[in-house]
Amino acid sequence: MEKILVIGANGQIGSELVDALTVKHGVENVIAADIAPASLYGAANYVHVDVLDSARLAKVVDSYDVTQVYQLAALLSVTGEQAPLKAWTLNINGLLNILELARERGLAGKPLRLFWPSSIAAFGPHTPAVDTPQLAVMDPTTIYGISKQAGERLCDYYFSKYGIDVRSIRYPGIISYKSPPGGGTTDYAIAIFHAAKQAEPYTCFLGPETTLPMIYMPDAIRATIELMAAPAAQIRTRSAYNVSGLSFSPAQLAQAIKQLLPDFEMRYQPDDRQEIADSWPQSLDDTHARADWGWRADVGLAQLVKDMLENVRAA
Ligand code: NAD
Repeated sequence: MEKILVIGANGQIGSELVDALTVKHGVENVIAADIAPASLYGAANYVHVDVLDSARLAKVVDSYDVTQVYQLAALLSVTGEQAPLKAWTLNINGLLNILELARERGLAGKPLRLFWPSSIAAFGPHTPAVDTPQLAVMDPTTIYGISKQAGERLCDYYFSKYGIDVRSIRYPGIISYKSPPGGGTTDYAIAIFHAAKQAEPYTCFLGPETTLPMIYMPDAIRATIELMAAPAAQIRTRSAYNVSGLSFSPAQLAQAIKQLLPDFEMRYQPDDRQEIADSWPQSLDDTHARADWGWRADVGLAQLVKDMLENVRAA
């Protein structure tokens, strides 16, 4: 019986991951944790945890006999640029705290399986932009990307040196409607649906041809759960897996929305986020994830747009 702790459970991914894990493992076996005093999404078991407080973290893991930790708390690409030291401290020390906890628990005969997400932001301007391979030049330009690249190296190190069963995905931009996005460079692809639903024009902060890798939330959640369920021997990448969903530009997304809402109008006013987007891949080669644990995306652009327009709230 697994006991699962999700840190960052009030966030865009955490809020949906808690629901999916609850369906798979039972409500009594999933503990939602965040720095906020209460669950924003009605999680049945909620604990207040600051991932930077290692003593509190250890206490929660011990008291619930946790066997798996998903560590999602982070500052993202745009918010990270506004507070680089805070982003580095949270993103790196949060990860180190769970890696160290897993090392100590392993020595005590109570191993922890860990999930920690990397990002396409770990790549940089010298990375091959199209069909970016699993192993490529990585020269990230944001503090967020630098923390993700360093985090990948830490995961690989703790696996090689201490045998920690840590698993990771380089998430593309994640599109969803349940909770607001957390301050990333791909947030336009969510905000656009809110504008379209209110019959308002949308002014995009990226230029029309800025193609980026994206993934719809149900695919992202399924990838995460499938990776964590795979036998350890099959996980041959311990830094982070490329996982491909779909790739599109703002102009292509606007066109797909117009198919359903012909009056929708898109305007463009690129800002600082353009430079970040330009340093990221356009599409990913996920051969390793497919071969090692059978990954395959389900959702294409037309289905994503239809589903988002049906479900996004107008307000
Ligand atoms: P988010 O900003 O929506 O949520 C992060 C959550 O962490 C928030 O609920 C916040 O309250 C919580 N948190 C912040 N500081 C904390 C602390 N000290 N202790 C405990 N909780 C704390 O982020 P998200 O979009 O859900 O992203 C989750 C993870 O996935 C991050 O590591 C992010 O880098 C990664 N990721 C996300 C995307 C995406 O498109 N959303 C893409 C690539 C990678």
